[in-house]
Amino acid sequence: MKKAKVSIVKVEDYNSEEIYTALKRNLSLLGGLENIIKPRSKVFVKINHLSPPSSPDDVIVTHPYFTKEVLRLLLELNLEITVGDDVQSKEKDGFLLSGYRKVCNDLGVRLINLKQRGFREVICNGQILKKVLISPLLHEADYILNLPKLKTHSLTMFTGAVKNMFGIIPHGLRLDYHRLYKQSDVFSQMLVDIFSYARPHLTIMDAIVAMEGEGPSGGSPKRVGLILASQDSVAVDAVASKIVDFNPMNIFTTQNAHERGLGTGEIDKIDILGEDISAVEVRNFKHSAVAIGFIKRKIPWFLHGFIQGQLTLTPKITINKCTLCMECVDICPKGAAKLDGDLVWIDRSLCIHCMCCHEVCRFQAIKLRQRPLGRISREVNEFFRKAKYLFS
Ligand code: SF4
Ligand code: SF4
Repeated sequence: MKKAKVSIVKVEDYNSEEIYTALKRNLSLLGGLENIIKPRSKVFVKINHLSPPSSPDDVIVTHPYFTKEVLRLLLELNLEITVGDDVQSKEKDGFLLSGYRKVCNDLGVRLINLKQRGFREVICNGQILKKVLISPLLHEADYILNLPKLKTHSLTMFTGAVKNMFGIIPHGLRLDYHRLYKQSDVFSQMLVDIFSYARPHLTIMDAIVAMEGEGPSGGSPKRVGLILASQDSVAVDAVASKIVDFNPMNIFTTQNAHERGLGTGEIDKIDILGEDISAVEVRNFKHSAVAIGFIKRKIPWFLHGFIQGQLTLTPKITINKCTLCMECVDICPKGAAKLDGDLVWIDRSLCIHCMCCHEVCRFQAIKLRQRPLGRISREVNEFFRKAKYLFS
């Protein structure tokens, strides 16, 4: 079997020419874009847009300036391009605030909110999902190009290439899956089921400014200054997660996809091209509070329920930050986020800890609380992370 290759190239910021040059180098290290995607074919470009819409400065979305330079390269091959994601928005056009509408209009590229084209049921024969609804745009394309953003995630620890494909299914189904598959390992298995159905031909990751802390939308910007590219999405996640100080095989999506043969998750089995990974590692990258979820695998099964309860995160609203935008109330699959007079609050007896409310709140008004043992375990974990560098 051919060894997976991942290229890493440094970029200072979202400067167009710098990104364009870096992308050229990323792709030439992989053998050239024209040897991955045939000229004049149809390409579906999956961005990470997330709902509700947000400004690129919030680092929630794949930066539109990054995507613009990728599109410029694709246009040089005369490709028929469709850019898309499934976006829920109160505004008629969910792509205005992020700047995607302008970028795609300027380049004359089609940009589609997936829900406008409907979804088609397909057999996926996964470990959890046997059938799933996906966007027909994936079937209409010859190639899938995946443009994830490097972020932490309060449920899955890390979000990158594999999780980005969750956006090809309808919003309502995503909420149902959050409700049905609450535990991070099971949820991750479901994500890999979807990924296994729609494996991208090429992944280029925006890791120029990433999100640390409580991603995918409540964290903070963190400059990583890199673009990663590979034909193996799992390998991109493995390398990116290693750069931000995770053990890649502790990320459930990476581990599960690796074990199913959908890509390479083990770092020593990946050919890393361009920058030396040890020279670009970000040692003080803040992980999400759930980043110790993997310890479940190291303890006896009969303690799993207890440990899960300790690790579980419960949302709490910071009243003085809440703008009453109602996004959390609208998205909550259990009706646990409620409006009462002029206050939004969480009914803990109904909450299933799916994190959907945290994911949609753009005002950082939802904090995540953890029980004492979970907090202590996290602090111990952080202590050992720092100690590792002190003594290395
Ligand atoms: S908590 Fe956040 S999402 Fe919910 S209403 Fe307040 S600002 Fe909006
Ligand atoms: S309150 Fe938030 S975490 Fe709880 S069920 Fe509703 S959306 Fe999920």
